[in-house]
Amino acid sequence: MKSYRKELWFNVPTRRAFINITSQVEQCLKESGIKEGLCLVNAMHITASVFINDDESGLHEDYEKWLEKLAPHEPISQYRHNRTGEDNGDAHLKRQIMGREVVVAVTEGRLDFGPWEQIFYGEFDGRRKKRVLVKIIGE
Ligand code: ZN
Repeated sequence: MKSYRKELWFNVPTRRAFINITSQVEQCLKESGIKEGLCLVNAMHITASVFINDDESGLHEDYEKWLEKLAPHEPISQYRHNRTGEDNGDAHLKRQIMGREVVVAVTEGRLDFGPWEQIFYGEFDGRRKKRVLVKIIGE
């Protein structure tokens, strides 16, 4: 069995963003040389997500509105977590909803997606360097 590991780094200039990382994960798969197996992609931070959905800007605006309704950033005093002196209580909750990781099947050297599936990095507390782990195992 072959095994491949890579960290993708991001430094998002805004507090929140959704970034399509599909081509970067495809590049990892190419480098790995693996043709049949599994590809795990996970955020390595507890205020960021990796998820799969459509690359459609209206949907991303809907996510932003929906998440902000569920866990508004302000007032920051509404979150007990922010008693630590942080201001990212909302970001931890947003990350929980959008998920930590995705697993994609690798078939004939390609990510075996369903229709319209793309991989996104969801940032909820940006403006600093953060990582995503790509781990691919197989033959
Ligand atoms: Zn925090």
